[in-house]
Amino acid sequence: MLNRRMICGCLAAAPLAALTWPAFAEENQCAVFTRERQASVTPADALALLKAGNERFVSGQTVNCDLVKQAAASATGQAPFAAIVGCMDSRVPPELVFDQKIGDVFDARIAGNFVDTNILGSLEFATAVAGARLICILGHNDCGAIKGAIDDVKFGNLTATLANIRPVVEDASTGTDTPTSKDAAFVQKVAEANVRNAARFILDNSPAIREMADARDLMVVGAMHDLASGRITFLDG
Ligand SMILES: [Zn+2]
Repeated sequence: MLNRRMICGCLAAAPLAALTWPAFAEENQCAVFTRERQASVTPADALALLKAGNERFVSGQTVNCDLVKQAAASATGQAPFAAIVGCMDSRVPPELVFDQKIGDVFDARIAGNFVDTNILGSLEFATAVAGARLICILGHNDCGAIKGAIDDVKFGNLTATLANIRPVVEDASTGTDTPTSKDAAFVQKVAEANVRNAARFILDNSPAIREMADARDLMVVGAMHDLASGRITFLDG
């Protein structure tokens, strides 16, 4: 027979979402986000949705939705719960690694997942205009763009692209050693610093996003994806 303490223990151990937000429930997993549903999602809920989605991805438990039905249901408007800034790397597609579907998340993808004025404008649309509650900067290990920036690669317009990452490389370089992409630990260090730099850039350069973050209407988080396992680790602060 369950006593009160045991019941409380069970509740405490249950997934937060299952207790507080019916939209997390199994039967709603393929429901397209509406303005009403988006408004019911807090920034913490949005983060929980991404974490749960990556958990499904790494455990092979992805949800199989009718995407054609979702396309029709979302044709007249979108209300994604999050915006993701990710690398263009073919192995890190946000919808797949977070197990999200049509209309769930905005993606801004660029080699090296940095944020410039153009990406920032897109994020202001995604959040201040379209209502997304979370911005996630998604970096990954063994990133070609990070390695190119470390080696100071010069090639056509890629030179200008990588110049966005060079300041992070220079900050991360210590002593007199010439940084090299052959140093895997250094590559990872720069990739993580690049994610944190992007998050900081957003808050420092967008008064609209800063205001929402200060009011706790929006959260900006950084995360790193591991290519081999598919696991995404969220970074502190
Ligand atoms: Zn990359």
